[in-house]
Amino acid sequence: MIEMSEVYKTYPNGVLAINGINIKINQGEFTYVVGPSGAGKSTFIKMMYREEKPTSGEIVINGVDLSKLKESKVPFLRRSIGVVFQDFKLLPKLTVFENVAFALEVIGENPRSIKKRVLDVLDLVQLKHKARAFPNELSGGEQQRVSLARSIVNNPGVMIADEPTGNLDPDTSWEIMHLFEEINNRGTTIVMATHNKEIVNTLKKRVIAIEDGKIVRDEPRGEYGIYV
Ligand code: ADP
Ligand code: ADP
Repeated sequence: MIEMSEVYKTYPNGVLAINGINIKINQGEFTYVVGPSGAGKSTFIKMMYREEKPTSGEIVINGVDLSKLKESKVPFLRRSIGVVFQDFKLLPKLTVFENVAFALEVIGENPRSIKKRVLDVLDLVQLKHKARAFPNELSGGEQQRVSLARSIVNNPGVMIADEPTGNLDPDTSWEIMHLFEEINNRGTTIVMATHNKEIVNTLKKRVIAIEDGKIVRDEPRGEYGIYV
């Protein structure tokens, strides 16, 4: 579960990006975060995996109060949260297999279980046959599938995605969305900031709309709304 109470965030330059947010997202929910550019969507989700800290207020992720989380424990939090970005952020010098295995190697898993787990998640995203390829040999959609595989390899309870279809064509975007649905169907909570109106209005989920750092709308099976 993700819970925010009275959360405010002012950046060092004085910009008030989050202006009093209260929200509860239950385990297993699939939630879109929508709103105009600059509304605070990225800041909202970055605070969930401690990429940004709130100026005040409380954020609790799976029972862990992030304000009380020691810096040394942040890597443990990150392991319980998969993160997917618009620009994939794969390591260019590592193969597909190695990009996905990396997260398991740093926690000292044994090589046999790493191999099994990596091939299992590559199978899920239908890229087992590209295990030896390098990211620059893959299409955008394939790279995003690798990044999804990487984000779930640790079996996280929560997945955070910031515009995961922002660099993809419509057909490829739908393929990626179906993978997110499959991951969600296995019980993983998904929080996804998106500007993809067609997807939000077709694949109906909870919609949280943010404007000027505030939640202005929160609807189960909501609509995208009117944003440019
Ligand atoms: P969105 O994701 O909805 O486009 P952001 O969370 O990126 O919104 O930005 C919210 C506000 O905070 C904007 O005014 C943006 O310019 C500002 N902002 C975002 N990141 C930073 C930062 N690192 N330093 C200063 N201001 C920032
Ligand atoms: P299968 O048992 O399904 O045939 P393989 O063991 O042949 O699977 O592996 C599938 C792909 O994963 C192959 O392309 C292989 O090169 C790659 N692979 C397997 N283990 C590793 C590893 N430890 N490091 C890098 N690539 C690996």
